[in-house]
Amino acid sequence: MIRKIDKKTVDEVLRAAYDHCKSETSGKNADYIPFLKNVPSTLFGIAATLPDGTLLTVGDTDYRFGIESVSKVPTALLVMEQYSDREVLHKIGADATGLPFNSIMAILLENDHPSTPLVNAGAIAACSMVKPAGDSTGKWRAIVDFLTALAGSPVEVIDELYRSESDTNFNNRSIAWLLKNYNRIYDQPEMALDLYTRQCSIGVTAAQLATVAATIANGGVNPQTGKRVFRAELTPRIVSLMATVGFYEHTGDWLFQTGLPAKSGVGGGIMGVVPGVMGLASFAPPLDSAGNSVRAQKALAYIARELDLNLFGTTRCMVTTPASAGV
Ligand code: GLU
Repeated sequence: MIRKIDKKTVDEVLRAAYDHCKSETSGKNADYIPFLKNVPSTLFGIAATLPDGTLLTVGDTDYRFGIESVSKVPTALLVMEQYSDREVLHKIGADATGLPFNSIMAILLENDHPSTPLVNAGAIAACSMVKPAGDSTGKWRAIVDFLTALAGSPVEVIDELYRSESDTNFNNRSIAWLLKNYNRIYDQPEMALDLYTRQCSIGVTAAQLATVAATIANGGVNPQTGKRVFRAELTPRIVSLMATVGFYEHTGDWLFQTGLPAKSGVGGGIMGVVPGVMGLASFAPPLDSAGNSVRAQKALAYIARELDLNLFGTTRCMVTTPASAGV
């Protein structure tokens, strides 16, 4: 069954979600990256980008925060675009580990069996695959240009966050070299690690993330710029990865409750994709024990429920333009 809704309804639901969640104070900022500990924990924003490019926002949607693990989604798409989805499946894989995002144990347990580009190990491997091989500057340009095209507006690194991450990323360094040990990294490990650290330190707004999500929802065409960023057949691939591992070891609970494929980051951002319908994003720094924003999860779960966005449900929502509303 198709449920038609108009933009006004989406806007009202976003505002209601904001009111419903703004007094939620549980969770705490990530503190293993010192910069993140000091981001004001009261910040909270929700954004949606619709198929016609309309951006709807409520709260702190212009605040630039660390994209962190949400960056794993664009880089996974980039390597699928540069190689093919099959090659990424072969070189990295698509299996959820069921373990924390930075798990070394997962690599030890699955050393003969690739994991997914949406956990640290797979994301570092994805950075190593980015073309042009061996060229750190060229690879970085490819990553930033791709994210910019998805967002439809420029993004840049938050230098202080990059320094903070680089000074403390000992666990990720071990991951990069362990991948090398198992022949699961495809360029110089230190270069791949640095690219990964830099991409996690990119500053984005919730409004930009909603448009990244909408470009994915829209089969690779940015609904604001009208430009094709990636091949349409990659949308179901990346959405399946988000659905299976987007919230790390809490992914099953999230999917069970919402049916909304989404990816979180320890900067407090969450990006949700409803294929063919809309892109969603929310941002609030305090996290749960798995590293997922508490308030942003609550807000997106509310919106998914109110707008029938559950991918596994029998009702699908469709956002109408004013001319076709109510038809
Ligand atoms: N830069 C972070 C790390 O590698 C990203 C983790 C996340 O957002 O889940 O630890």
